[in-house]
Amino acid sequence: MSHVFHRNLRATLPKAVSASGIHIVDQHGKQYIDACGGAAVSCLGHNHPSVLAAMQEQMHKLDYAHTSFFTTDVAEELAELMVANGPQNMRKVYMVSSGSEAIEAALKMARQYFLERGEFKRTQFIARRQSYHGNTLGALAVGGNAWRREPFQPLLMDATHIAPCYAYRNQREDESAHGYGQRLVAELESEIVRLGPDTVIAVCMEPVVGATLGAVAAVEGYFQGVRRVCDKYGVLLIADEIMCGMGRTGTLYALEQEGVEADLITVAKGLGGGYQAIGAVLVSEKVANVFSSGSGQFMHGHTYIGHPVACAAALEVQKVLMREELVTHCAEMGPYLRDSLHQAFDANPFVGDIRGRGLFQAIELVQSREDKKPFDPRFKLNARIRDAAMDLGLMVYAMGGTIDGRLGDHILLAPPFTVSPAQVQEIVDKLQQAVQLATSSIP
Ligand code: PLP
Repeated sequence: MSHVFHRNLRATLPKAVSASGIHIVDQHGKQYIDACGGAAVSCLGHNHPSVLAAMQEQMHKLDYAHTSFFTTDVAEELAELMVANGPQNMRKVYMVSSGSEAIEAALKMARQYFLERGEFKRTQFIARRQSYHGNTLGALAVGGNAWRREPFQPLLMDATHIAPCYAYRNQREDESAHGYGQRLVAELESEIVRLGPDTVIAVCMEPVVGATLGAVAAVEGYFQGVRRVCDKYGVLLIADEIMCGMGRTGTLYALEQEGVEADLITVAKGLGGGYQAIGAVLVSEKVANVFSSGSGQFMHGHTYIGHPVACAAALEVQKVLMREELVTHCAEMGPYLRDSLHQAFDANPFVGDIRGRGLFQAIELVQSREDKKPFDPRFKLNARIRDAAMDLGLMVYAMGGTIDGRLGDHILLAPPFTVSPAQVQEIVDKLQQAVQLATSSIP
């Protein structure tokens, strides 16, 4: 009997015993292609020798030093590299140990930014429905995933949610993509006005929605409109790039492709590539200056922030990305993955949409393409596809199927950036088989 409190106490999970490149091997020697990087984490694949060496070297030098007492070379170097490679307006990096912690830190930093400025009435956050910002209570409050929020609703702080930018389902036939985006921007503005512009702290959005919808990018002009509205009312923009950032969409930050700068950016998964638990908040000059000329102290902190071994891992992951030009490779392999998905699924009546950016691509399953009706969530199609894929030795990130039936079923692919064309083909072939197997049992 296992004494681990597993996510699913009834499931019998295989044991991962080793990993290398894009493969994980279980206790029976069965090999799985990690086509989703776990949860879009493993950007370099597994067992990269130079990352392991960097971690080992750091462990032998300095295992841990609390950040109330010390800074370290690795933390300083990582922050310097992230600022140098980041959007132009970014000046500082606040390090944490996970995505949810990055969001918590960003929310509190945004609140304190206004306290430092004497704007005490600002207490509200605006985010979007069908978004995911993490599972801690603050992150859950901001997130717009009804299914995850529901059991904890009475414990959550106030946050309001507007429509996601999800053209496949919500763009009207009588409007252009641009018009659709601007309609949503107008909704954001109305929401700020409704709440009272001097009460809103920040708007928090994923530039490409990951864990709830599967690789949904906004329509052109949307984020520019969001930025314009935030500026008009002095509201901060938090870009949650925890899943889509650090190169996955073909640029280091996904928001770069929208021609917009955020005030705070949260990152995690691809920052450490799974080698260590690390996340961070990139802090713009605008926000950092208010702190440095104000109290000089962020009222927040955790024991393991800036952990030297985590910083060493993240630093080397970022150096490998640069040395091996993997973000460019990601940008080049993305269209190849997308084309392969089209070849495999264009004729499949149950695949309603194929979308994404870079090596962040997803398919959405529907009962019929005409009315885009999702499957009954009780059928758990996405989980069936995931299980069929696991049987075939393929890991995919499956999501959807909420009680209200609105989310539908989505399968996300987020393979390591090192993936080869032949491996992309193998991933798509296996996914095609898994979808075939799972949909053949539709009642
Ligand atoms: N934000 C986004 C966009 C995410 O996709 C996730 C995780 O999937 C999180 C936040 C939470 O990150 P973590 O699971 O590391 O707490």
